[in-house]
Amino acid sequence: HPGLYIVATPIGNLGDITLRAVDILSKCDAVACEDTRVTGKLLKRLLTHKPLIRYDDHASEAAGLAIVERARSEAIALVSDAGTPLISDPGYRLVKAARESGVAVTTLPGACAAIAGLTMSGLPNDRFLFAGFLPTKEKARADALAELASIHATLIFYESGPRLVKSLNMLGELWPTREVAVARELTKLYEECRSGTATELADHYTANPPKGEIVLMVGPPVENSCDVDPDVLLREALATMKTS
Ligand code: SAM
Repeated sequence: HPGLYIVATPIGNLGDITLRAVDILSKCDAVACEDTRVTGKLLKRLLTHKPLIRYDDHASEAAGLAIVERARSEAIALVSDAGTPLISDPGYRLVKAARESGVAVTTLPGACAAIAGLTMSGLPNDRFLFAGFLPTKEKARADALAELASIHATLIFYESGPRLVKSLNMLGELWPTREVAVARELTKLYEECRSGTATELADHYTANPPKGEIVLMVGPPVENSCDVDPDVLLREALATMKTS
């Protein structure tokens, strides 16, 4: 059937491809993807070959509309390099445009690093907030975290190896008592998930610089805790006394 098919692909382990994904990727007319090399390789491993249309969030509106127009009469699959399209990946504008144009949109759910990390973290999962990547600039990161401070839910971030320790240090200052978990290389050979306070994890990853892909999670604010480190309070009070 014609339409736009949002197809989740594995986040590391090819075994996580779904039967539906294999079916649609081998029957569709074309595949819209972020990186034609990455998707070309995946299709090759699935023993299929399809015309590839490069599409990302920098694509022009016209390029998006051209895909939507094609999806009126053809089955177009949308994939990203790994995991679920749209989740910190391209596709939002395309899906919105397809829906607004009355083109059929279907989703084929599958692997998503945020959900995979959350489920193995041991952190409360009844309420969670996915916050994607934190901003790169220090001030913007601090502002983003401050905005999330009072939310009673587990927070989920995507993070990169080189920035992990910096983020953990910032979390340690802000929320010294909240439980934090780091899930790394999910579904791959060196999969690991560690939890502790942000400071404990910062110490660990300073000694063992993390490689690979990372999901960083912060448990909800601790009940009956003002979430303020008495040492920090004391230091701040002393600093104020010295300057006044
Ligand atoms: N759309 C993808 C999904 O559904 O998970 C996420 C795409 S985003 C551009 C890539 C980020 O997701 C990585 O930087 C990392 O934070 C996280 N990620 C992806 N695969 C992962 C894995 N196997 N283990 C841990 N984190 C992963």
